[in-house]
Amino acid sequence: MLVESIVRNTLRLKRHCVKKVTEEYGEIVVYLFPDGRCRLICSCCGRKGSGYDTLKERRWKHVPLWGIPVTLVYSPRRVECINCGIKVEAIPWTQGKSPLSLPLSVVLATWSKMVAWKVVGQIFGFHWNTVRKAVKNVVDYGLANRDLGDLIYIGIDEISRKKGHVYHTQVYDLVEKRLLWSGENRTSETLEALFDYLGKDRCEHIEAVCCDMWAPYIDAIKKRLPNALLVFDKFHIVRHLLDAVDKVRKEEAQKLKSENPELLKKSRYIWLKNPWNLTDKQRVRLSDLEKLNLKINRAYLLKEAFRKFWDYSYQAWAKKYLDQWFWWATHSRLKPMRDFAWMIRRHQDDILNYFKVLIDNGAVEGLNNKAKAISHRAYGYRTAETFKLALYHGMGKLPEPQLTHKFV
Ligand SMILES: [Zn+2]
Repeated sequence: MLVESIVRNTLRLKRHCVKKVTEEYGEIVVYLFPDGRCRLICSCCGRKGSGYDTLKERRWKHVPLWGIPVTLVYSPRRVECINCGIKVEAIPWTQGKSPLSLPLSVVLATWSKMVAWKVVGQIFGFHWNTVRKAVKNVVDYGLANRDLGDLIYIGIDEISRKKGHVYHTQVYDLVEKRLLWSGENRTSETLEALFDYLGKDRCEHIEAVCCDMWAPYIDAIKKRLPNALLVFDKFHIVRHLLDAVDKVRKEEAQKLKSENPELLKKSRYIWLKNPWNLTDKQRVRLSDLEKLNLKINRAYLLKEAFRKFWDYSYQAWAKKYLDQWFWWATHSRLKPMRDFAWMIRRHQDDILNYFKVLIDNGAVEGLNNKAKAISHRAYGYRTAETFKLALYHGMGKLPEPQLTHKFV
């Protein structure tokens, strides 16, 4: 029968045959059995061995044919392996205890990269949870088989789930621009779990880490990465600076509330945006506001002056400029700017490390936007595990199981 040979060919069965194909309750059911001439393969080590016994029948969901669900049925055998003892035989169309065939996992996971998991379920007629299992199979395979390569620069960032109620620490490989690790919370333990996973040798190999001025991260890095230079991330520093500027605006707007409530209304982005990104309307408003003697204008000028710091090529010159800027900020009579300046001063050495190893989380910025898109698309990422799965799947650049037949 034609369907039998399609199944045999697409799964490239070598040690198994198709016994029969039937139609049961609107599904195509494919019964498989072992080819008695072949020896069994151990699922643990891949060695050949002889049969021990047969386990009870199992069923796998397979790629639907013409929109009709397909189920594979087979009774796995156990093999007597000289290495491992009594083990289940290797089954070429699946891995582990998954109730999905490997091709089905790959098909669903491939679509899941492009559209929401729920939609993938609707297209193929599966429950959301089946799609999740498929992605998990592919991600598990990818994590087990990925090459961590020459890990020298890593970048640490955080993203939030559940509208900012739960944080996830994201660790990126800055050279390969891929997600290396995602862990719940942003404590020292979160990072240490990654360092445990990497092992001592890999940790010692890491040359630089780029992250925010966040004490729990700093503690873990100093403790576990003996050879890594700590570089405080430019983008995080700028974000702190913008927060300070915005604080000045809010305080001033509050003070002007009774006499001139309209003056600073909706001016937030005028002060925070890069000047060259302003719209014509915003530019006109800015030049009007600049004529007034406003506190926010002083904060704005400090923010713009800080930009020059990053342009230096030599650390010593950058430091000189930073000293100068520190003096301006601390004499600005603007508390948020002064607080920011002191924070910079406390972390000055690690900020200046930027001029030794020119790394920042800029590469990560695009990835983090992707992470945000993944989390927004996230109907149903209620658990940390599922959220992580989606992140690894979308950003891990993980290797995927190779199928002999192309189903998508
Ligand atoms: Zn074995």
